[in-house]
Amino acid sequence: MDISQFIRTVPDFPKTGIQFKDVTTLLQNGPAFKYIIDGWKDRYLDKKIDAIVGADARGFIFASALAYALELPLALVRKKGKLPHTTISESYELEYGTDTLEMHIDALNKGDRVILVDDLLATGGTMSAAVKLIEKLGAEVVEITCVVELPLLKGREKLAGHAIHTLVEYMVH
Ligand code: AMP
Repeated sequence: MDISQFIRTVPDFPKTGIQFKDVTTLLQNGPAFKYIIDGWKDRYLDKKIDAIVGADARGFIFASALAYALELPLALVRKKGKLPHTTISESYELEYGTDTLEMHIDALNKGDRVILVDDLLATGGTMSAAVKLIEKLGAEVVEITCVVELPLLKGREKLAGHAIHTLVEYMVH
């Protein structure tokens, strides 16, 4: 299935020059959403995965569906100030700004093999901060998986050494 047909591009959001890849239109298509989650389920079923980690906020949607499909624990990487229990934190750069990500100190177990999920890989700043948090907890990122990749923003270079899987590429900045 060509899922790119379900992803809407919104020019100049949230600011001028950004081509925003909107996955809400993809989520409105049940078979397309199922196709993505079923594909990931097959990909990770036999990889001895212990937990799925989702990145705030659109990553949660895809990560929770995958965790459900694989019957695995779901751990959240959240923007700062959202998690109620004791957290660890890591600052990161977005394509359009900077922020801090947090995880609960008990979100993962030492030695856990995890899949890190987000909707989109751009500069890799978000995924790189999330990897640091996961590794601080003593867990291992087996693969980073995103629906969309913007290769011109060189996320793969920032995440060198990590396995990355994406489904749709757009040659935009
Ligand atoms: P980055 O940290 O630069 O890899 O940016 C990835 C994060 O920012 C993801 O959580 C995306 O949801 C969001 N993001 C960055 N650029 C875009 C874009 N062009 N369209 C949609 N989301 C984006």
